[in-house]
Amino acid sequence: MSLTLDTTARKAEHAQMFIDGGWTAAGAGGSFPTVDPNTGETIAQVPRGDSADVDKAVAAAKRVAVDWQFTDALGRAALLRALAEKVTENADELARLEALDSGHYLAKAQELVGAIPIWLDYFASIADKVGGRTIEVPGNKLSFTLLEPLGVTAHIIPWNYPLLIMVRSTAPALAFGNTVVVKPAEDTSLSALKFAELVKEAGFPDGVFNVVTGYGAEAGAALAAHPDVAGITFTGSTETGKQISKLAADHVAQVTLELGGKSPTVVYPDADLDEAVEVAVQGFCSHTGQVCVAGTRLFVHADVKDEFLGKLTARLDQTKVGDGFADGTQMGPLVSKKQFDRVNSYIELGKSEATLFYGGGRPAGTPEGGYFVEPTVFTDVDNSSRIAKEEIFGPVASVHPWSTEDELVAAVNDSIYGLFAVLLGKDITTLLSTARRLQVGGVMINDWFGELPMTPHGGHKQSGTGRDEGLEAVHNYTQVKHVAINLDPLRA
Ligand code: NAD
Repeated sequence: MSLTLDTTARKAEHAQMFIDGGWTAAGAGGSFPTVDPNTGETIAQVPRGDSADVDKAVAAAKRVAVDWQFTDALGRAALLRALAEKVTENADELARLEALDSGHYLAKAQELVGAIPIWLDYFASIADKVGGRTIEVPGNKLSFTLLEPLGVTAHIIPWNYPLLIMVRSTAPALAFGNTVVVKPAEDTSLSALKFAELVKEAGFPDGVFNVVTGYGAEAGAALAAHPDVAGITFTGSTETGKQISKLAADHVAQVTLELGGKSPTVVYPDADLDEAVEVAVQGFCSHTGQVCVAGTRLFVHADVKDEFLGKLTARLDQTKVGDGFADGTQMGPLVSKKQFDRVNSYIELGKSEATLFYGGGRPAGTPEGGYFVEPTVFTDVDNSSRIAKEEIFGPVASVHPWSTEDELVAAVNDSIYGLFAVLLGKDITTLLSTARRLQVGGVMINDWFGELPMTPHGGHKQSGTGRDEGLEAVHNYTQVKHVAINLDPLRA
């Protein structure tokens, strides 16, 4: 049955899984609550899918995999475009569900949902442009490659950008002829279920797109371990990514990992400091710091550090933290009690490792029961301390003064992560020199991260393998077949 949202009561009903084109409770009958992080109140009960439910979803996806593969690419593209239209028609409800379940403030959720059709359109537009190549070989032979889909692909999704991260991997998978089983994060399943309704309305054949809700250790692990799953795209923590890799190895599934980070925002001495502060604040406060590319290490040149910190304080004083549905909110809550406790424990740790420069408490006037924290900044931070090394996943930044490029590059690269970096300054030669030397999957110069379907996203080192988005995503969802033909008459 379809999912309905009561915006006034902030409740949703009939959250059922979507398997083989139909709605179902978990086979074992279990469910768990999903809560509004603004208040801590339950929004809905979500089915607690297990390995038996995963088996059903994978069986459905496998049954239709060959038919879907041989649906022509333009047909698949037309369905993705029809789905984009459905998303546009239902954007308001999708945004409200996303805001309620994940804690994105409403205006941000609307912006994120508004971008989803661009992802669907982009991958629709390249569905028929992906192909193999011809190869010159000795003799009278024709040799060429085909790019074929993998078959059944699994998509295990985190809670920070539930809809966007699901679409950015399922859209290319579907476009290139794979069938899909999604496992949303247990804290944020609702927008995936609403999206599944739209998939059905858009006309996708039953079984091509499935959603199994549940816990990571149950539904997630069963999906990653399933022998009929040929490709796994996992977005989430580095720790879980390592477990997924091990589960996938047992049946030699292809794995794409989009994992954690501890990204630097670098301020050069010639930077415009007002702009630098603005980008730095976006970097560690966007979605309350729950962003894989969050710029949580502020490398500020020693010559401008004091002026930068003065401007940073003034800017953070203006940040309005509160209920995501209230007018003017710029920063909502953390997603769950678990994350709230985790971030607060890092803030306590920071007080023992460094100097608390800003924040560190609960913002005044925020709703009781909600998971709110102040933007928090530490100074006098040793680069080897835990708050400088570990991903906190909250609005917590550490300040690291630097003087020479060599010193800067060594400190930034001294990390297990290598996801992203922001560089803020004017001397383009210096900026590009640093960009080449950093061990990261993406660099943004004089701007904050802007995710787009046509540019590759992914990490070096323990931030991941493979690239979601861009033409590079083709490799995640296709495999090569080589075909050769002998053009000489066969001898008897
Ligand atoms: P998580 O690893 O706890 O969970 C992610 C997903 O994996 C969830 O659906 C969860 O249910 C599932 N899962 C958990 N244990 C599992 C297991 N043993 N087997 C199979 N599935 C399992 O991550 P999270 O807390 O939801 O998300 C935050 C993390 O995601 C951060 O580290 C962040 O940096 C990372 N992230 C990375 C990107 C990127 O593009 N690189 C984007 C967003 C988030």
